[in-house]
Amino acid sequence: MSKIDFFTVVIHRDFPLGRVSQVCIKLNPSGRIYVIFLVEEPEAKEQSSEGEPKRAVGVDLGIARLATLSDGRFLENPRPLEHALERIRVLQRALSRKRFLTNNWLKAKRRLAKEHEHVRDFRRDLFFKLGALLAQEYDVLVLEDLNVRDLIQKGETKKRKMGLYDSSFSEIRRILEWQFLKRGKQVLPVPSYNTSRECFLCGGINQNLTLEDRVFHCPHCGFTLDRDLNASLVLLKRAGWVPPGVPVELRPIPPLSTLGLAKGRQGGVLR
Ligand SMILES: [Zn+2]
Repeated sequence: MSKIDFFTVVIHRDFPLGRVSQVCIKLNPSGRIYVIFLVEEPEAKEQSSEGEPKRAVGVDLGIARLATLSDGRFLENPRPLEHALERIRVLQRALSRKRFLTNNWLKAKRRLAKEHEHVRDFRRDLFFKLGALLAQEYDVLVLEDLNVRDLIQKGETKKRKMGLYDSSFSEIRRILEWQFLKRGKQVLPVPSYNTSRECFLCGGINQNLTLEDRVFHCPHCGFTLDRDLNASLVLLKRAGWVPPGVPVELRPIPPLSTLGLAKGRQGGVLR
């Protein structure tokens, strides 16, 4: 490390420098160097405020809308992320036209690696912030206990997108769970069977619901609600929780800038 000389570090999280127990240096295929600080945190304590009822949230994960919460809030797949995914497709095509191991090929390869890294970092940052937000407000997180492949095949027919979303689903689950567990809170995975087809109100099944239907309409009792919101409420119900009421409308999670969705890089600079 003494050979690297002085450099500028972009810090993405606030942390007490005194609690750093380990520092790792990582060189990525894109050529970017990461400095990872391992910070010791005090042990998580069960945060059950005595006597107060626990609050639970059901989270439905999807592709068009990243997360829909049983309280009516949702998180769209952010546009910068969509754009980055589009750039990856373009770069992949460019790479395939270059001759293997030539200078131009190597250059294209590195550019692609950089874009992949950007997407991964952007997502991870977003997932961490969503997890922190939920774990602050709720004691119990209810998620679909699902096979990721099933979900993608159900929701996305274009195969080329699969690889890009595949890792994303397992990661968002892992990060959300981690955020709850580290605060001593609870995560309840519930069976995913028919969650989008079941009516939250009467429990009847809408067999005719197709992937294109964004609105759930119950043929048995007439209950009508946004498809993903209904699914998140069904999840909550399967975990044994009853929401205080059915949210009347969907609201985007605001403000996006504080969730790290603002353009440009976040974090301060340490010299
Ligand atoms: Zn119904």
